[in-house]
Amino acid sequence: MITPGALYIVATPIGNLRDISLRALDILAAVDMIAAEDTRITRHLLKAYSIPGQVMALHQHNERRGAEKLIGLLAAGKTAAFVTDAGTPGISDPGASLVKLVREQGHEVVPVPGANAAICALSASGIAASPFIFYGFLPAGSGSRRREIARLKTQPYTLIFYEAPHRVLECVEDLAAILGGHRELIIARELTKLFETMHSCCLGEACAWLHADANRQKGEFVLLVSGAEAKNESGLSEKAQHILALLMKELSLAQAVRLAAEITGESRNMIYSHALTLKRPDGP
Ligand code: SAM
Repeated sequence: MITPGALYIVATPIGNLRDISLRALDILAAVDMIAAEDTRITRHLLKAYSIPGQVMALHQHNERRGAEKLIGLLAAGKTAAFVTDAGTPGISDPGASLVKLVREQGHEVVPVPGANAAICALSASGIAASPFIFYGFLPAGSGSRRREIARLKTQPYTLIFYEAPHRVLECVEDLAAILGGHRELIIARELTKLFETMHSCCLGEACAWLHADANRQKGEFVLLVSGAEAKNESGLSEKAQHILALLMKELSLAQAVRLAAEITGESRNMIYSHALTLKRPDGP
């Protein structure tokens, strides 16, 4: 059942301690050493399942030293597991360098799958899951965060972000400012925990929703944003063209263009040129 000299990369729960596989528990109980990102969190998990387990610390600040210690054990035919605080190691978490070093030394690395916050959120979001871009954490500073979001703006794929509670509001503000208020957003908060919330709205409404109750900005967050819409030769999405056409029935050209750009987040210049073609007697 367990291979001598192998390192097991074990996914652990993202909140609800019952979200761990039977195989993960078997492996944690069987290995000679459990390397953990935070030994206190892992001891709490092991205690819940009455697993005695020997635990050592291995986190981003000692990943190389920890890896060398584990490689020594594996070379002696022992077995080891690596776990992070929550979810799947290596996904916005330490693990990649450890796995690389262990593989380079010719040892087997075995994944033991389980919880992951992004996939958990995506599975219950109702947003088209395929294809999607898992981004993880955007940069903390607003300037670089906005630049990154701008790079993603034209991607026609669902975007998945992780965010910390103290930054969720500014992150959503930046997403709305760069991607436009019309995109669909799912705010997945405290998944698998007592205050689990999945809120669906458009980006333009999200800040008001977060402001409405201070509790809505607490906890752990996954943000899912629908991808860019396909555009036709005007360079505008079908939705933008439709909104512009409706506004032009009621408003002046300048007002319709300004509002359409604000609502859709699409280029004002492109909306303006499309508005001109609509005005032409031979227009579309
Ligand atoms: N490795 C983990 C995984 O597989 O999902 C992710 C670790 S990353 C350091 C932690 C981030 O994941 C949190 O800041 C939050 O964005 C997201 N996250 C983790 N648990 C969550 C939960 N229960 N609900 C919502 N988001 C969660």
